Amino acid sequence: MRLSRLFAPTTKEAPKDAVLPSHIFLVRGGFIAQIGSGIYNYLPLGKMVLDRIRSVVKEELDAVGNQEVLLGFVTPSELWKESGRYDKFGKELLRFKDRKNNEFVLGPTHEEAMVDLVRNRVKSYKQLPLNLYQINTKFRDEARPRYGLLRGREFIMKDGYSFHESVEDMQREYALMEKTYGRILDRLGLRYRVVEADSGAIGGSGSKEFMVLADNGEDDIVICEGCDYAANIEAAKRAPREVDASDVEMTPGSFHTPGVRTIEELASFFRISPDFLVKAVAKKAIYPDHEEVVLFFLRGSDTLQETKAATACGALELAEASKEALEEAGLVPGYIGPDVQGVQKYVDLELKEQAPMICGDNKPDSHYVGYSFKGKAFDYRDLVTVEAGDRCHRCGGRLTVTKGIEVGHIFQLGTRYSEALQATFLDRNGKAQPFVMGTYGIGVSRLVAVVVEQHHDERGCIWTEETTPFEVMIILSNAKDDTQREYGETLYAQLREKGKRVLLDDRNERFGFKMSDFELFGFPRAVIVGKGLKEGKVELVDRGTLQKEEVSADAVASRLMES
Ligand code: ATP
Ligand code: MG
Repeated sequence: MRLSRLFAPTTKEAPKDAVLPSHIFLVRGGFIAQIGSGIYNYLPLGKMVLDRIRSVVKEELDAVGNQEVLLGFVTPSELWKESGRYDKFGKELLRFKDRKNNEFVLGPTHEEAMVDLVRNRVKSYKQLPLNLYQINTKFRDEARPRYGLLRGREFIMKDGYSFHESVEDMQREYALMEKTYGRILDRLGLRYRVVEADSGAIGGSGSKEFMVLADNGEDDIVICEGCDYAANIEAAKRAPREVDASDVEMTPGSFHTPGVRTIEELASFFRISPDFLVKAVAKKAIYPDHEEVVLFFLRGSDTLQETKAATACGALELAEASKEALEEAGLVPGYIGPDVQGVQKYVDLELKEQAPMICGDNKPDSHYVGYSFKGKAFDYRDLVTVEAGDRCHRCGGRLTVTKGIEVGHIFQLGTRYSEALQATFLDRNGKAQPFVMGTYGIGVSRLVAVVVEQHHDERGCIWTEETTPFEVMIILSNAKDDTQREYGETLYAQLREKGKRVLLDDRNERFGFKMSDFELFGFPRAVIVGKGLKEGKVELVDRGTLQKEEVSADAVASRLMES
């Protein structure tokens, strides 16, 4: 390709809302262009990167026996009603009607559609296992689309679904997918961790996420320094915090605490560590058909983990509960305690059997001192946010918290969808059984941005070998110079003949301008054809280090063939 012909409009200005390097450089480098909120067009360079990632994904999946299919992006709502997810999925699901008033959704994920494809077509255990995948557009009406390709509304996902006759066989495939996803990310040149995850709206038992380590990641991941335990903060466990109550004495009873509402105020009022205070967190839980106030109780020194809390009460999402909403529910803000009645409530597991504690007394200006959880039957759940310095529940090692970007997610799904959609096969005894399923997703378009997020400098992208649109750029420092031009053209032809992906910068532009485009594009290396050519020399530049090396003009082609 000649840069003079390539549609790659580079710019100096970044989009106003762009804060992350990947968003800035992909737009400035002419890889992508926004057309609507959370919706992007791919220009030729962006499409090349996307295709390269897509083919690495495909090669690795095909190599382990997965088969590629392509399902309709538009899915009949009927299937989503059959699975019960039509209401559960919430506002991210874009629903619409056609001219005949039939209802449809834009597929945000395709469990239902894939089960529908397989049901009544796979009839016997002899046809199992089966692992089908597609690389296709998805739509989720995200509340806050942002960061360019990292969180779009329209995006491209590889989603795979496997069908098995037994849980054991599904788990075998799940382990194989974990390995395969690892190989894909290794080939793309990414540093990542596999972490235990929350299973979210898709449902099912075990699930793991592939997190690419990046300072700008939206996800917090907990990593143990002592063993290989790693988990998304939404699912992370810890060894219970040890609290020494041996010299804490309290005489049980109500205590007048006018104007003392927060944990900080209480701690200083009673001159006691927040470890001995019970924190009440009130949330507005949003369900498909209604909203209600839900209470979560935890130790004063802990923070509520919202995903764990939403899972506990089965809400679509949690929102802030206003003072008015609390009062309407009969609660006394600032003085809510675990014995309150008439509201849905959950207590953190680590409070089980704890005593003595100080908690709200459910009446104005009063707390209860010397409260005991011993023998109390609450709905105990894991509700806490794990923090750096907490101890690993497996090995007791120190836990740290770091940032990651989720690029893949694998689930042991079980029979949740096959049962709901009545998709069965005949087992070895001739009995109809629901398929045991696994599901596996990779954010293909998100990966385009993730590569840049992990590989860039202040000048632009630095593509890895498998993801770069071009392996070499040949820069003619003066395109009007006949000798340079002739040499450049010959080298260009030679490399192309040998199968290299080469871009020839034959534009009639200043050298500095061309160099800054090279740095912005981020192809791994360039050959600079300049004045040195008279002495038989050209320069080889490494994009990662920006180091230049003088090389004999005759030898550069063979040097490049080695890399
Ligand atoms: P997130 O927690 O980031 O919202 P998710 O858990 O909802 O993602 P999954 O349903 O597990 O996502 O989808 C599989 C993969 O699709 C994710 O691992 C991610 O790489 C990608 N993905 C999900 N949502 C988006 C989005 N809005 N934009 C781009 N890629 C996405
Ligand atoms: Mg996920």
